[in-house]
This record gives sequence, C-alpha cells and structure tokens, in this order.
Amino acid sequence: MTDAGRLFIGGAWTAPSTDEVIEVVSPHTEEVIATVAAAGPADVDRAVAAARSAYDDGPWPRLDPAERIDAVRRLAGLYKERRREMAQLITAEMGSPISFSKFSQATLPLLLLNAFADIAEAMEWEERRAGAFGQDILLCKEPTGVVAAIVPWNMPQFLLVGKLAPALLAGCPIVVKPSPETPLDALLLAELVEQVGLPPGVVSILPAGREVGQHLVAHAGVDKVAFTGSTAAGRDVAAACGAALKRVSLELGGKSAAIVLDDADPAAVAAGVRVAGLMNSGQACVAQTRVLVPSARYGEFVDALAAMVEELPVGDPTEAATEVGPLVARRQQERVRGYIEEGEREGARLVTGGSDLPKGVDRGWYVRPTLFADVDNRMRIAREEIFGPVLSVIPYGDDAEAVRIANDSDYGLSGSVWTEDVERGLAVARGVRTGSFGVNQPYSMDPAAPFGGMKASGIGRELGREGLEGYLEVKAISVAAAS
Ligand code: NAD
Repeated sequence: MTDAGRLFIGGAWTAPSTDEVIEVVSPHTEEVIATVAAAGPADVDRAVAAARSAYDDGPWPRLDPAERIDAVRRLAGLYKERRREMAQLITAEMGSPISFSKFSQATLPLLLLNAFADIAEAMEWEERRAGAFGQDILLCKEPTGVVAAIVPWNMPQFLLVGKLAPALLAGCPIVVKPSPETPLDALLLAELVEQVGLPPGVVSILPAGREVGQHLVAHAGVDKVAFTGSTAAGRDVAAACGAALKRVSLELGGKSAAIVLDDADPAAVAAGVRVAGLMNSGQACVAQTRVLVPSARYGEFVDALAAMVEELPVGDPTEAATEVGPLVARRQQERVRGYIEEGEREGARLVTGGSDLPKGVDRGWYVRPTLFADVDNRMRIAREEIFGPVLSVIPYGDDAEAVRIANDSDYGLSGSVWTEDVERGLAVARGVRTGSFGVNQPYSMDPAAPFGGMKASGIGRELGREGLEGYLEVKAISVAAAS
C-alpha cells in the first residue's frame, strides 16, 4: 500500500508540506508493507491553526451536546463496519496476534465510542447550586480547548479513540499524532471521520516521529496534551506543559504485580497470568510481569506457570491460534533479549525461555516467552519495564509482605490478586498503590471505569465519566439574588 501523498488535516485530505515518508515494516516478515506520508512541523502548524479556528470561532464547541453525541454515534456505526479490517491492519503493522487484535485492539475502540456517547448523554452539562450568600450559582462544563493527543504503537487504536471520543464529545478540536510504527489504523480512522463530516478544523491525524510530537506539545495553540507513552517521554511532555501551564494527562509505563495468595488454584493462576502478563506478546502497559508467589507453595505455582509459558503458541500473528507474535521492531527484540541476559547475569533462575531465538524462526522480531524464578525485587528485571513476554516470579512470606513488594516499585499502574477468598483479595487490592486492580481477573480496561496511574505511571484518568471530565473545564457563574 502506498498512501504517501496525503495527510488528514482539519478534516480533509491535504498534500503534505514535505515529501518525507514513513515505511511501515511487518514485524513478522521484516518487509515494507506500506509507505505513508510523514507529517512535519509545518503540517502540525496547519493542523493547530485549523483546530484553533474551530475552537475560537467554529460551531463545534458551541453545539448542543446532543449533536456531538449524534456525530460520535455515526462514527461508531461506520467503525463497526470496518473493525475486522482494523484488526488486520494493526496485526500487520505492529505484529499483535490476531487473537488479541480482533477484540482488544479493534473492538474495544468501538465499545469506547458508544460508552463515551452514553456517558455524555448522562452528563449534567449545566448544574445549579445555591450560593452561600443567597445568590444562584450556575456551573457550566465547557470544552478545555485545542487538544494534542499523542499515542504509542502498542494499543494504537484503543489509545487514540480513548482520547478522540471524549475530546469530540466535550467539544474540543483535536490533533492526533500516532506513532510512526502504527500509522495505518490511524489513517483508516481518519477515513471514517471524514465520512462523518465534522466541521472544518475539528480533527487532524498526523503520523510522525518524536520531534514532531515535541513540536505539537510545545505549540502555543494547544491548550491540553493527552499523552500515552513511556515514562521518560512523559517527563519531557510534563515539563513542556508545566512551562506553558497547559493541561496535561499522562498515561505512562508500568511494572505491575500479580499477587498469588496461598489459597489460590495453580491452574487458575496460570490461566490468569497468561493474559495478565503476556497479552499482546507482553507489550502492554498493564502487563503484570512480577508474579508474587507464596513461599509455602512456591514449587507448585512455578511449575504451573512454567507449563503455561512452555505451551504458548508463538508465531505468525495472522494465525488464529497464535498467542505470542513478533515484537514491534528489531530494537524492541534486542531490548527484550538484553533484559533476559541481564536477568541471568543478576542471578535469577531461568526456568524456561531464554535470549536465543524461538525454534524455527529465521525472520521476524520474535523473542522466546521466558519465565524467571527466584527473582529479587531489587533486580533490574523486577524494576524496569521490559515490554516483552518475560515474567519474573518473586517469593514472599505473608500477605503484608506481598503488598509491600508490590508497592516497592516506581510505577503504580495495575495489578491483580488471586485467591479463593474475595474479602482477603479486596484487602490486598486496597493496600496496593495502583490506579487499577483485578481480583481473580487480570485487570482489563473497562470503558465504564477510570483508568490511569499512580506514581511514575502517570497523572490523570482516561475512560469512564472521569475520562470525559478531563476534556472539560468547569466555569462557575454567580448570579446576584433579585432584590
Ligand atoms: P514512547 O514514549 O517512545 O512514544 C510514545 C509516543 O510519544 C509516540 O507517538 C512518540 O512519537 C511520542 N513521543 C516520544 N517522545 C516524545 C516527546 N518528548 N514529546 C512528544 N512526543 C513524544 O513510547 P512507546 O515505546 O511508543 O510506547 C511504549 C510505552 O507506552 C510503554 O512505556 C508503555 O507502558 C506505555 N503505555 C502506557 C499506557 C497507559 O495507558 N498507561 C498504555 C500503552 C502504553
């Protein structure tokens, strides 16, 4: 596919400012599968100018919310027809196994569009309160302004729609910068947005790299930045937004723990960690890659986890049975293999897997699903986000120690607890400092629940009512009591 001659700026396809292109490379075959236009700083300037004018003078922020809800529902209707194609594109561009893509990558965004439309419908856009001095107070929820949305490649469409839907419903024009690894799903969405027919300037989608992202974040015409990506980049984005006092939400990295209590069933734990720790070939911010196992039943749980990791089908991501596909890029493959070597150097016990290539693989950025046991929480493999199919089992004594180890992390994104006793599980859940947590289930992103991180995992919440509120400012208008 070659689509190098156009960019989606302000709701229309437009010639790019330069002839720079992005080559999309299949992580499975290592062949170029598409060439698309790369946006440059001048394209960002045009998109922000269009968004600015849509916000300052255009109809979108001033419409009755019902009209914006109707537009998002129409987008959902169009999306529904193309979601299989969306899943295939995401699998092709970043190697996500189709078994994961078809629901989590491509259907969840559809659920998000509809869920956010429902939330907007239930929202009280204006509210009256009795003032303390006898006056009337009118609270108005108003769109925050021009939004810059920056998304990573690992869940590209879900994270994009998780920003686009609430921004549109709130009345904010939005300029989206997808990752250079994953422009194809974003460009399909742009086609759907074009078909909905929004007023000029409301949506721009500009695939580009980091420097263009920095230009967008620093742009004087942007009022709010919604960023998802690594903690290192998040710090830069936060600093740029702090200097300009822009609103910012940050969804960053994680190193979450699955806490196995001593009454848990090993088969249920292995099935849970299979998803919680290894979904999307381990390329998930919420991946629970530290598995905390009670010393009293240590061997039993390690055996169950090892059997699960060994039987994972690894291979061509387009095959229905595949659970672990290639990683997104050679640099990611090298990084993950480097961590496996580091784990061995640090003295962790390699139970299964390793830094050599999976059997039979002669191309593609594959890594062997790997399980380490006897991991000390101070080791780098327990502290740093690996972003690949690598699990670390850490032994603990009692529930309090498990919570302490789970919390001994720079991150605070997600986690889970596995037990026959739900009340005991809830006590553990309450003790862990993360923005989301599952009891007897891997935490799954739920369109109804706010999602976000504590500590170095981010600031702010996306999804749920809280997600929509992140795109609204509350204005208080005080009206003097009639004399
Ligand atoms: P990354 O930080 O390198 O890039 C993310 C996006 O930000 C890309 O579009 C990139 O071009 C852009 N970018 C990078 N540096 C920037 C800067 N200084 N200014 C502006 N834009 C910049 O991350 P990645 O490797 O693409 O994605 C993986 C990371 O994303 C992991 O750390 C993962 O945990 C995190 N993530 C977090 C969540 C969440 O919801 N908390 C969800 C998915 C992924």
